[in-house]
Amino acid sequence: MPELPEAEVVAQQVRAHLLGAQLNDCWVGRADIVREGLLTLPWYRGARLETVERYGKSVALGFQKEGELRYFVAELGMTGLLLFRATETKHPQHVHARLSLTGGREPELRYWNPRRFGRLSLLDQAGLDRYRARRFGADPLTATRDEFLHLLQGRRGRLKPLLMHQQTIAGIGNIYANEILFRSRLHPNREANRLRAATIGKLYDTMRTVLREAISNGGSSVKDFFAPDGTEGRYKQHHLVYGKEGQPCPNRCGRIIRRLQSERSSFVCPSCQPYKSLKP
Ligand SMILES: [Zn+2]
Repeated sequence: MPELPEAEVVAQQVRAHLLGAQLNDCWVGRADIVREGLLTLPWYRGARLETVERYGKSVALGFQKEGELRYFVAELGMTGLLLFRATETKHPQHVHARLSLTGGREPELRYWNPRRFGRLSLLDQAGLDRYRARRFGADPLTATRDEFLHLLQGRRGRLKPLLMHQQTIAGIGNIYANEILFRSRLHPNREANRLRAATIGKLYDTMRTVLREAISNGGSSVKDFFAPDGTEGRYKQHHLVYGKEGQPCPNRCGRIIRRLQSERSSFVCPSCQPYKSLKP
């Protein structure tokens, strides 16, 4: 958290409030959060915010100056936020960058992240293209059904880790993987390349429905997520299995939601998501 829907909500708000604004100054509090070197930072002064795009769980702000585009890419995955100035934060010491802008609806955009892994990358167009190719697989909202089918049929391994593998499919994390698999009636440990094409087709539809519904509900506010203006997401109220260990299955099958211990917690209904291990 944030996952794809939350990053999309962040990108939509930044676009609506700041597109066309001019960057007057940028302050970076910790040199080690910037991936591509502080030397390029002065270039951004006077540049205009031309594009705001989401890639996986990251948001790329494209600034234009004298015909050239350069990007601030903020990693949001796990705990990162982009915040407007009036939005309160619990731990202001984790604000690692501030961009001050004029001509938009907000005077400031801040990058907040309490984790050490979260990075801000300063990239030119070629750098952004390399970064995208290296880090992000297919986007669940733009990949076609056939692309998704080929991705899953071509990979060995269990279904849930594959859905969360960012270089295969970018943007899905533990919360949405659990919700998508429950609604698809698929156990997390099913082997992806043994699923039938029709089953993968249903999984594809369910994945997109869940992600789109989450976006239109402002995302899920689990842990500390909120949008740049401080709004909390409402999709948590629509979660069916994530964090629901011990509660009755929402399909009213009579069973109880169980939590599997794996590398990340999985929440399953033993009846609606059957699984037979092939190992004896
Ligand atoms: Zn059930």
